[in-house]
Amino acid sequence: MYPARRSTTLVVGTGRRPGYRGPVPEGHTIHRLAARHAELFAGDKVIAVSPQGRFTDGAARLSGTVLDTCEAYGKHLLHHYADSTTLHVHLGLYGRFTDGDGEPPEPVGQVRLRLTSDRHWLDLRGPTACELLTPPEVAALRGRLGPDPLRADADPERAYARIRRSGTPLAALLLDQSVVAGTGLIFVTEALFRAGLPPTLPGRALTRAGWDALWADLVELMTRAVAHGRIDTVRDAHLPEAMGRPARVDRHGGEVYVYRRPGAPCHVCGSAVSRGGLAGRNLYWCPTCQAG
Ligand SMILES: [Zn+2]
Repeated sequence: MYPARRSTTLVVGTGRRPGYRGPVPEGHTIHRLAARHAELFAGDKVIAVSPQGRFTDGAARLSGTVLDTCEAYGKHLLHHYADSTTLHVHLGLYGRFTDGDGEPPEPVGQVRLRLTSDRHWLDLRGPTACELLTPPEVAALRGRLGPDPLRADADPERAYARIRRSGTPLAALLLDQSVVAGTGLIFVTEALFRAGLPPTLPGRALTRAGWDALWADLVELMTRAVAHGRIDTVRDAHLPEAMGRPARVDRHGGEVYVYRRPGAPCHVCGSAVSRGGLAGRNLYWCPTCQAG
């Protein structure tokens, strides 16, 4: 939960440039947005409109109400209002926010929701979900989601209880938001590499110690990504400067071991990175380091 935090310096960005069409944002991006939106609006009465017209009734319900707190749960963003209404946003593949100070510009494109206060404005375009929820509906949403490594209230035992009973490949389990919330393809791919586990390992083959280490690593990687606004997963010994290799050039940003590096040499052992499909997603792994 991100309460009101007053600052004249707006330190948290969205990490997504206008027009960017990368993978679905992972949980760290949503946590950054929650902190950002709390900084812009929490404690203030907001005016809400839907320039595009697809959220007119919802915007009218919010308008004139004080935004209390903002919260991220996995890839879901929640704005909690003083009248117990919650705005729920899931960006999906195409959703994005833009914001600024002072008077908002003329709406450009399909702006689903615009929030303004005396000092700031916020536009939302292209979300998969933009809806109002009652407290029981918020509880139901939380109930559908697994623990989020970025939340202090996360209970990793809930995830392990699912994983250790399942014959499903570990990568698919970790991508299932009802098992772990907020993890997307980059975090899952990279955490499995760092753990030396093959993505196809059946959930039930993951030991207790293996799960404890994997969870701790997800917490560390995702927390770092919240701080930096990009996903970096390589250890110091494998950074470009340490290895004398060129820095990664990729729209998603950070230094990674195997994500979207098919055929390239593994930073640890030099084997060619493998690529394969799992449930319609591309997976990447090192056949040597993750032999299992
Ligand atoms: Zn390797």
